[in-house]
Amino acid sequence: MSLEKDCIFCKIVRGEIPTNRIYEDKEFLAFLDIKPISKGHTLVIPKHHCKNLLDFPKSASEKLAGSENLRFLKAEETDLLELIKKVASAVVKATNADGFNLGMNNGKAAGQVIHHAHFHIIPRFDNDGLHNWPNKDTSKEELEQVQKKIVSFL
Ligand code: AMP
Ligand code: ZN
Repeated sequence: MSLEKDCIFCKIVRGEIPTNRIYEDKEFLAFLDIKPISKGHTLVIPKHHCKNLLDFPKSASEKLAGSENLRFLKAEETDLLELIKKVASAVVKATNADGFNLGMNNGKAAGQVIHHAHFHIIPRFDNDGLHNWPNKDTSKEELEQVQKKIVSFL
């Protein structure tokens, strides 16, 4: 696992900065956001330092497959989506939330401030006054144009 000396989240992984740990295994860590959007706002991070989703190891379990310890982990503990479901479910139950947002900011332009990949689990409540992103009108032509362009990069 690669950790960066000056990265705040790597420091949390190393135990150099105190945090409110929710879940930890060999690859992932979940802890409370220090400036929560709502009570129970939790961050899930890979321990391995990577900048954002595109920099994410193909599969954290695959990356560490050679590691002695990892051979003994249960599938659930090496599957990120299952882990996010597990943590989100506990957050929702603990806060009596009506729903939650799963978010990820990738890059400065998208609002990423800490450049160690992380997923936000944000409990939501009916009429909590928080607003999601505004939608814009578009045209059939524009949708088709962008569809073709994205598909061409797959
Ligand atoms: P982002 O804008 O997606 O990079 O979000 C970074 C998040 O990390 C923010 O919501 C911060 O409140 C949170 N954060 C920053 N430092 C800490 C820390 N030491 N412990 C817990 N959360 C933190
Ligand atoms: Zn880091």
